[in-house]
Amino acid sequence: MSAPTRREFQTWDLQVLDTQALGRDLLQIRFAAEGLDALRWQAGQDLMIEFPNDEGSTTRRRYSIRRLDPVAATVDLWFALHGSGPATTWARHSAPGLRVPGIGPRGNVVVDSEADWHLFVGDESSMGAIAAMIEVLDPATPARVVLSTDDPDLQHVVRARAGARTELTWLLREPGVASVEGQLAAALDSLAFPEGKAHGYVLGEISEVVRCRDVLVGRGIERERIDAKGYWSVRAGNLPHGEPERPDALR
Ligand SMILES: Cc1cc2nc3c(=O)[nH]c(=O)nc-3n(C[C@H](O)[C@H](O)[C@H](O)COP(=O)(O)OP(=O)(O)OC[C@H]3O[C@@H](n4cnc5c(N)ncnc54)[C@H](O)[C@@H]3O)c2cc1C
Repeated sequence: MSAPTRREFQTWDLQVLDTQALGRDLLQIRFAAEGLDALRWQAGQDLMIEFPNDEGSTTRRRYSIRRLDPVAATVDLWFALHGSGPATTWARHSAPGLRVPGIGPRGNVVVDSEADWHLFVGDESSMGAIAAMIEVLDPATPARVVLSTDDPDLQHVVRARAGARTELTWLLREPGVASVEGQLAAALDSLAFPEGKAHGYVLGEISEVVRCRDVLVGRGIERERIDAKGYWSVRAGNLPHGEPERPDALR
């Protein structure tokens, strides 16, 4: 599969239709927008949204497309709520009728249909992307999913498709702890791998993403077959364009 090119970006006038708490700090927001039925996307892609900020202007943040309903012309995004950045503040106060511009689809981390098996690694921030990606896998292709959360209820929110060879491993953090250094990497170190050519998708806190990528390389998965993408950073808010500052290891 190939991801759309930059030329295909569009701006959508997203309007909140409804909100649904999926867990203590995970909120699904369903947006409607004129023309959304024409949005062509692949699981793993996102929208870059311009949220109002305290300075009276806007800050860009990226949110993965959980699902698109082309008939209803709606899109669902999952917001991990934390702290008081522009996106989280906006999401906490979102209500039907509220509007924000969304640009996309963005992103080139999509399912590699050539892989013999898939490995998804993430946290609350990437649950929307990973839930969308495991839904489109060939059910006969093995997949392993390793997710860290501080909310055990989310284990009911991201599920393997019935009949698919997808196995999930959940790692629990203490409530309110956003990230445990080395937790995901340690789990990957001891995870039993299926046979064949893997593709890894590591999406989450940026320093943990680097640690996980290094463990996977150490376990024999080629670097080119690992999409390692920092979604956020424990050290600071994301940059104005929506991504965390990238350490040299991910350049
Ligand atoms: C391609 C891409 C797709 C993404 N998809 C999603 C998605 O579908 N759902 C989603 O929830 N996030 C997603 N993210 C991550 C999201 O964009 C960031 O978490 C972003 O920082 C949130 O913006 P903010 O304005 O709330 O917080 P910021 O202003 O960036 O940060 C404010 C404070 O919150 C902390 N923080 C930021 N994010 C988190 C977090 N996830 N957990 C705990 N603390 C945090 C920071 O360390 C900082 O202290 C995605 C990121 C990328 C790059």
